Amino acid sequence: MIDPQEVALRVQQIRTEVAREGSSQVAIIAVTKTFGHDAISAAVSAQCDAIGENYAQEVLAKVAEAPIGLPVHFIGAIQSNKVRQLAPHISLWQGVDRGSVISEIGKRAPGAEILLQVNTTNEESKSGVPPREVESLLAAGRDAGLVVRGLMTIGPTSGDMAEVEKAFLSLRSLADSLHLPECSMGMSDDYRMAVACGSTMIRIGSRLFGPRTPH
Ligand SMILES: *Cc1c(COP(=O)(O)O)cnc(C)c1O
Repeated sequence: MIDPQEVALRVQQIRTEVAREGSSQVAIIAVTKTFGHDAISAAVSAQCDAIGENYAQEVLAKVAEAPIGLPVHFIGAIQSNKVRQLAPHISLWQGVDRGSVISEIGKRAPGAEILLQVNTTNEESKSGVPPREVESLLAAGRDAGLVVRGLMTIGPTSGDMAEVEKAFLSLRSLADSLHLPECSMGMSDDYRMAVACGSTMIRIGSRLFGPRTPH
């Protein structure tokens, strides 16, 4: 059960913490994957900046059910064959890490805004391009007519905050060196560190809505 007042309170707390870090311009992306429209409505009332969703089928089911009321960011791994159906509903594609996805978005959603996902941890299992390949992916995005707003990463999940800090600082400096404004980094367990490192978008799920049951 989602309690909208509880969600609003948590959003307020996060905004206060972010302000304390000296950043006012941090967007809160409410990650509603696995939750229903009650979570989306709570995020709308709490004045989150956008909704984050990971699964194509889930986005399509939710938009068919009722209007979302906030911009929707696709934050999961993007399968090229889902781009066409998703395109009308997505305002920012956050997980772009391959040329094939860039050309598909370029074809199905001309001029769309994207973030390039970077693997800042050298973990093989993580999605995202290695930092040294970001520049060529950026060029590919622009060649495809897309607006590359910035970079996105998922921090190390080891819980070692020194490692997390290193990953976030490396994403920020990469974005700065490429003159890209947006850095989407920080989730429920590490958003404060992310904001301290220059995040402009934090993606918060469980901290707002409670634990998820596996998808
Ligand atoms: C699920 C997810 C989140 C939210 O995670 P929480 O730890 O619940 O805040 C953020 N970003 C991505 C890419 C996710 O898949």
